[in-house]
Amino acid sequence: MIALKGAEVSAKIKEQVQKKLERLDGRVPRLAIVRVGERPDDLSYERGAIKKMKAFGLDAQVYAYPETIGSEEFLAAFAQINADPAVTGILLLRPLPAQIDGKAVERRIDPDKDLDGISPVSIAHVFAADEDGFAPCTAEAVIEVLKAYDIPISGKRVTIVGRSLVVGKPLAMLMLKENATVTVCHTRTRDLEETCRNAEILVAAAGRARMLDERSVGNGAVVIDVGINVDAEGRLCGDVDYERIQERAAAATPVPGGVGAVTTAVLARHLADAALRQEGRA
Ligand code: NAP
Repeated sequence: MIALKGAEVSAKIKEQVQKKLERLDGRVPRLAIVRVGERPDDLSYERGAIKKMKAFGLDAQVYAYPETIGSEEFLAAFAQINADPAVTGILLLRPLPAQIDGKAVERRIDPDKDLDGISPVSIAHVFAADEDGFAPCTAEAVIEVLKAYDIPISGKRVTIVGRSLVVGKPLAMLMLKENATVTVCHTRTRDLEETCRNAEILVAAAGRARMLDERSVGNGAVVIDVGINVDAEGRLCGDVDYERIQERAAAATPVPGGVGAVTTAVLARHLADAALRQEGRA
């Protein structure tokens, strides 16, 4: 089984970003990372995103707010970031605490700065399969991994486990755009194992530690594991049991070291694209 390594895909995306930056005449795009509270997941993603932006020659600034901030106060602060001409793009760490009107934030984020595709406008672009919006970075990262390793998507049977708005649903649309035949599974899916085993490309995005093993993987399938989980021993792992699928799959992404590194690289490319669009140079 071939390991599909995120670092290799990220390096290719870095070259694309550098070419885009050359067209910006020395101006450095700035990412605003907006965080409420101090969830360990958010802090870890934030560190990864900052490191990647620096490595790609981009700027990142964190806007952090207390866990207890009121909805109106947060929306006012967010509006300022949204309107700030020095901010090229925004990454909002989610989920937000329950007291904050998350839907209002999604409606108000400037689609031109919406690097992770959370606004209804961005989602509409993903559904329309046009190039005018930003898709959620993780969903796009799955496509990037396949393309970087020259794995054909067109005409393939693709099964996605998970139907969230962040990963599963937008990924289904991106896969359709690439002419795959797409099946989306969720907690009410009957015969999950059989449906997964029938896939030529299997994408796991359920958030359940090692829930899929060799029984869910067809011979020669390509497996993309989006899951980031902590197992009972406290170790980071994916939704797929990487060791148990070795004899069955043709290729698979490890966790860590797979899709995660590509997600932040796609975020960086979106930031560079946002800068070019805002300057009318896209
Ligand atoms: P989510 O919002 O919790 O959605 C999980 C989806 O998986 C739901 O649609 C759920 O079905 C389905 N599901 C859960 N358990 C299942 C089961 N036993 N059988 C079949 N379907 C099942 O999660 P998410 O935000 O999409 O994230 C998914 C995973 O990706 C998480 O591990 C997360 O940490 C990871 N992630 C990784 C990156 C990255 O950069 N690599 C980025 C974002 C997220 P229902 O709809 O029926 O509930």
